[in-house]
Amino acid sequence: MSESLFHAFQEANPGPGRIFLTTAEGRQLSYGALFGGALRYAAALASLGAQPGERVAVQGEKSVEGLLLYLGCLATGAVYLPLNPAYTPAEVEYFLSDAQPRILICDPARFSVLADVAARCGLAHIETLGADGSGTLPEIVAGHDSDFAPRARHGGDLAAILYTSGTTGRAKGAILSHGNLASNARTLAGLWRMNRDDVLLHALPIFHTHGLFVALSTVLLAGASMIWLPKFDAGAVVAALARSTVLMGVPTFYSRLLARADFSRETCANMRLFISGSAPLSAQTHQEFQARSGHAILERYGMTETGMNTSNPYEGERKPGTVGHPLPGVDLRIADPDSGAPLGPGEIGVIEVRGPNVTPGYWRNAEKTREAFRDDGFFITGDLGQIGADGYVSIVGRDKDLIISGGLNVYPAEVEAALDALPGIAESAVIGLPHGDFGEAVTAVLAARAGSKVNGAEIAAALGGKLAAFKIPKQVIAVDALPRNAMGKIEKAALRECYAGLYGDGSKAASR
Ligand code: AMP
Repeated sequence: MSESLFHAFQEANPGPGRIFLTTAEGRQLSYGALFGGALRYAAALASLGAQPGERVAVQGEKSVEGLLLYLGCLATGAVYLPLNPAYTPAEVEYFLSDAQPRILICDPARFSVLADVAARCGLAHIETLGADGSGTLPEIVAGHDSDFAPRARHGGDLAAILYTSGTTGRAKGAILSHGNLASNARTLAGLWRMNRDDVLLHALPIFHTHGLFVALSTVLLAGASMIWLPKFDAGAVVAALARSTVLMGVPTFYSRLLARADFSRETCANMRLFISGSAPLSAQTHQEFQARSGHAILERYGMTETGMNTSNPYEGERKPGTVGHPLPGVDLRIADPDSGAPLGPGEIGVIEVRGPNVTPGYWRNAEKTREAFRDDGFFITGDLGQIGADGYVSIVGRDKDLIISGGLNVYPAEVEAALDALPGIAESAVIGLPHGDFGEAVTAVLAARAGSKVNGAEIAAALGGKLAAFKIPKQVIAVDALPRNAMGKIEKAALRECYAGLYGDGSKAASR
């Protein structure tokens, strides 16, 4: 029996006449048109030589045709390699030379630059696909029927390579099998009660695990439908909520919805579930959202290499500031980052996971793969966290974001939570900067709420009763907004670089 993700989607097909997707402009795609279109794309890719195991790289804006291309790629058995449209040609060259795909599909506007890059990397084909459905690939697709027979795959066969947004060193290609993706999606669809009556509001990009796998796969496995937005736009989301039942978003979606006067309980009357992930959702945003909308956001935690690992419960308490419990079938433990020794309840250490969701490793990188796993098969996430006495997991920051000031560990999430709770603070990022005396100095970068001002001395005084002195920021930097990547993650490496000289060259002491 085939364990291909595409076959799993076909098996869950609720019927050709059912609507799969509606765009903001009112274009509709039925399930029949979805699978028919995907198989025509599969036939077109196969005519270009897409064989099981060969890579197909895609860099383009989010579009319905791009979705058919993704599913078509799965049907051929080839390995889908999505690239963020923001990547420069030089970055694309790195990914192409590393992954060595057979085919690159890019936006028509980029063809002339990327054709040279593709040639240098030895690709057999470069074709184009525009967000409006133009390009050379749709022309090839038009010459094919939908009678392509999707290729059978085993659970361990590769379905996709996603380069991780690693902030240090070169990006690594996380390889994901059909079994990884299908098992994780089945678990999530069940846990979150996804069903045929659901309408998921899809406003995430589809080059990343969240929008591509978590959102699309759960919809397809449930035979549900989607409202399809090209990107997140708070006004468009508010307008579409009345026709939606589920929203999957990153925390900035939720803070931006809260910033709108027209977002209310009434707007959410048809909604069943709001889900957040990809970056920490502050307890403040969680609580404000609940007060305004009547909905407790369900926060979950995952990463490119593992898919989803934990989720707050569907029924039961969704605890602000936590990412819930390990998913069924996922083993999760907290370990000493250096020795790997398991730690007890309440102790902070690195989160390690094992289960059918976890990547077999990094593309053609045996060394990084070895470094990422313990001998007993647990994957070392690099996230620091703890498991509370109540069994809820919480994340205190990335291992590399940990601040060591005067020899003492400062977990940024703890200081950020204290800052976010102060009136007048919209968002915060706590980083460690080189300091002659302390080694690293705890430093806060803050954006104030409209009408408020950031005052370093007042903030330090307000935190005084709440945090130990060594955790209190030595300096506070006010900014209009924090730099975030496409998935809403705060770019801490960029902040550290930007303010590296704040305390002099690091050899002299500086004080608050
Ligand atoms: P990515 O591989 O781009 O999906 O990034 C994965 C990383 O995002 C994780 O290793 C975490 O550091 C972070 N992340 C994802 N979900 C959450 C969450 N709910 N809370 C805090 N951090 C998260």
